[in-house]
Formats: sequence, C-alpha cells, structure tokens
Amino acid sequence: MTATRTPGVPAIDEGSLISTNPATGEEVGRFPVASPDSVTEAVTRARDAAAWWAGLGFDGRKRRLLAFRSVLTNRLEELAALMHREGGKPRADALVEAIAAIDHVAWAAQHARKVLGRRRVGSSILLKEHASYLEYLPYGVIGVIGPWNYPILTPMGSIAYALAAGNAVVFKPSEYTPAVGQWFVDRFAEIVPEHPVLQIVHGLGDVGAALCRSGVDKIAFTGSTATGKKVMAAAAESLTPVLLECGGKDAMIVAADADLDAAAAACVWGGLTNAGQTCVGIERVYVADKVFDDFLNRVVSRAAKLSVGAEPTDDIGPITMPSQIDIIRRHIEDALTRGGRAALGGAEAVQPPFVSPTILVDVPEDSAAVQEETFGPTLTIARVRDAAEGVRLANATGYGLGGAIFSRSQGLDLARQVRSGMTSINSSLTFAGMPALPFGGVGNSGFGRIHGADGLREFTRPKAVVKRRGPTVLAAMTFDRTEKTMQQIVRVVQLVHGRSK
Ligand code: NDP
Repeated sequence: MTATRTPGVPAIDEGSLISTNPATGEEVGRFPVASPDSVTEAVTRARDAAAWWAGLGFDGRKRRLLAFRSVLTNRLEELAALMHREGGKPRADALVEAIAAIDHVAWAAQHARKVLGRRRVGSSILLKEHASYLEYLPYGVIGVIGPWNYPILTPMGSIAYALAAGNAVVFKPSEYTPAVGQWFVDRFAEIVPEHPVLQIVHGLGDVGAALCRSGVDKIAFTGSTATGKKVMAAAAESLTPVLLECGGKDAMIVAADADLDAAAAACVWGGLTNAGQTCVGIERVYVADKVFDDFLNRVVSRAAKLSVGAEPTDDIGPITMPSQIDIIRRHIEDALTRGGRAALGGAEAVQPPFVSPTILVDVPEDSAAVQEETFGPTLTIARVRDAAEGVRLANATGYGLGGAIFSRSQGLDLARQVRSGMTSINSSLTFAGMPALPFGGVGNSGFGRIHGADGLREFTRPKAVVKRRGPTVLAAMTFDRTEKTMQQIVRVVQLVHGRSK
C-alpha cells in the first residue's frame, strides 16, 4: 500500500520509519525502529556470528562475498530503480554508484588474504634465533553508520572491507534511505543464511547514537563533520576506535596548460552529478587567469544543457534531504549579496525539491559558498594568477577530502601539494572508483581510510607474534647474560649500526 507524505521527510508511525520519495512524497517503505535494547541485542547476536564468520577463513568468506557480488550485479536494475525512488537519484547515477560498490565487494574479497594473512617478517640481528610473524585479525563487531547521498557505495566502502577482514557488522543506514540499506542486507542474508553476519538497525540519529554505545569493537561513520564529532565523543566513553569519513569542500585547479574542454566536462560532472550531493563533489574551482574566460564559457554552456527533474533519465534529480535546500539557498544568496555574480542559475534556481545548476563567480573567498559544504548543484569559479595560487586557496578551508587538478605538465607535483586524501589528475572523482586506492580525508573531513589495503587493515588489529626457533645466540634479554656476552653484543651493534652510511 502506498501513501503520499511530505516529500523526502522521513516519518515515524506506530514504531515504523517511513521513507518517502523526495520528489513525489510516495511512500517507499516502512521499517521497524530499533530501541536501544534491540541495538544491543543485535550486537550480541553479531558477536556469535563474528566468531563463525571469522572461522570460515579467507577462502570461505571470499566465496560468500563473491556470490553476494554476483547477486548485486544480476539485480542491478532493480537496485538502481529503488535508489531512484528513495533518493531521487537519476538512474545512470544510481547504476554508477552501485557498480562502484560491487567493485569494492569483489576487491575486498579477492585481496583480504594477501593484505591481512599471516606472513613472516624480518627478525633483529640480536634475536636471530626467533621468527617474527605478522597478521591482521578482525576486531569482532563493527558498527557502520551511513549517510543518504550514496546509500550503497558509502556504507559498502566500510561493510565489504569489514566483512572480508572477518568481522560481523551492524549497520545503521540514514533515515532517508532505509529501503536501499534493507535491500542489500536482505541480499546478503540470502547468501549467508546461517548467522546474522550483517544486520541492520533502523531509526533516527538516536539509533546511531545507541550503536556508538552498544559495545561494538569499532565504529565506521560516514556523514557530516558535526555528527562525526558526536560519534567520536560517544565512542571516547568506552575508548571504542572510530573511523570518520566526513564532509568536504573539494576544489578543482585548472592550470593554464589544461585541456579546457576535458576540464569543463569533468568540472560539470564532478560538481553537479547526484545534484551536487557528493562528499567528494567539486564545489570550488580555481582557474588560471589566462584560460579563465574560455573555461567559464565552456562550463556554463555544458551545465545549461542539463535536465533537472524527477524522471529517472533526468541529469539532475531532486535534493534528497529537504533541509539541505535552505543551506543551498543561503550559500547562493550570501554569495550574490557579497558581490558575487551568477554566470548560470542563481537564487531563482532553487525551486524545491529541485535546484538547477548554478555557477557563481567573483565570490569572496571567506563567504559560506566557498568555505562551507553546500551539497547542491552549485560551483564557485574563481580567477587565480596561476595553479600555485589555486593550490594555496584550495588548501584554505578546514576540509581536506578529495579534489582535482587539470594540467598537461604539472599534475603530479600539484596533486602532492593539495592537502587532501585523494586527487584526480585530468578527471574528477575517479579515485572513488579505484578499489585499490585508500579513500578518506584530513582535518574536518575526518580520519582513517576505507577502500584498498588500508581499508582492509582499518577493520583489523595487527597481531605480532615472535616464536623461538632454536637456542639463544646472544643472550641479552635474560638475567643469565654475562659481561662477555654484553661485550659481544656491543661489538655486533657497532658493526651493524655504527657506520654513518
Ligand atoms: P549526518 O551526519 O546527518 O548523518 C549520518 C548518519 O549518522 C545517519 O545515519 C544519521 O542518522 C546518523 N546520526 C545522526 N546523529 C547521530 C548521532 N548522534 N550518533 C550517531 N549517528 C548519528 O549526514 P548525512 O546523512 O546528512 O550525510 C551527508 C554528509 O555525509 C555530508 O556532510 C557528506 O559530505 C558526508 N559524506 C561523507 C563521505 C565520505 O566518504 N567522506 C561520503 C558520503 C557523505 P539519521 O539519518 O537517522 O539522522
């Protein structure tokens, strides 16, 4: 049965969370709200499941995760349709997101043994009769808290890696996208029916807060910086480790030697895809003086062609979270009041639940549109003397998540100078689709890494083991040592470490 409600505003009715389509208000699904006790019970069940799941070993988990990957792949269209209905995401954006998530499941499954499995490492010259072993063991139960803007890709960036490492997971999806979360958790349960290795708990922010205090062994949070601070404060009470993937204000730098057409295309896509509701979306652009006018014209002409609407085939869908519209409007109005100019769109571009592409120029660097996360289909484009000045301004916010550089000759040098976790050269957002690369930020964008080998290790504790293989050669770490042995040891150390080269 479907009912029409206030578009996009989740409601709680008789203990159920109701999710709605942000454009039409159509009810998408109802999900039981978890009480604090039921969150704790889920974690208790997860602990038993974790022991069983870890016991499957790398190969057993790999088989299950690859089967899960196949189910997601074979039901891609169904998943994308649900993502469109619940989040308003255009079908193509939903497909791109889901495919990236599938890639992560496969990568994590296929690389867990190599990255985490037991290996011999070198021993000290003074302890040659010992063998050293290193392996990465699962924490146990991971609490994953996810946002709504990428309802499968962002949680999967933690879930797939946590599962491949041998943990069980209790997942709290955003109140705006519970249906997508429930859908993929159900698919996993079809592949792993024996134990609740991946569970979901629904509700508002208080359910996320309960998960932080539920006794999980680590919290992987993706969401806003403000909530990330609350999560870290709650986790501090029990010294629970946290991984924080928070907001961003990513910049693109366009050098004078850039391929301007490619830069304009990547700027429009990186800034406006998913209606700009992307943590690593391009929000600010710094363009070398020499090519500024040409670049701006190309961006405006491309952005003006994008369709905005609720159809799955539109380029830009609705703003998923209605309260974000006020932030987007405030940033545009503030920029225009403070001397900025709209090269496209402007205040009238905000027509809830839609916002049309808005390109702002001459915006003061200290304004909200440049300093704060806008999370809408808007871009500020600023003229700079050269790419070096672009880097300086790119680094002048508290955030440091991703970003992009366009230059034919200086890409790698400039990328290193940008204070962020990821940079794409001559493209935008592409680092998010590379499972082998770590993903995460610095400063207000958080800390810790998902994806890649670092993402696997994030959900483990390193275990160091030293095993004696034979009789003691140089007896230093015993009260049986003699003065003669100590002199021998000093001679060996001087031989090994005493030279300046
Ligand atoms: P929020 O911070 O509002 O919410 C994130 C999650 O935290 C939701 O599930 C939310 O539940 C939950 N939550 C709310 N309050 C608490 C609490 N006190 N304790 C624990 N959990 C709580 O973020 P949004 O959902 O609005 O997501 C958008 C933000 O996420 C943007 O800032 C974006 O940049 C960032 N993001 C970062 C990414 C990254 O990888 N760095 C990727 C994607 C998004 P509920 O929804 O029920 O309130």
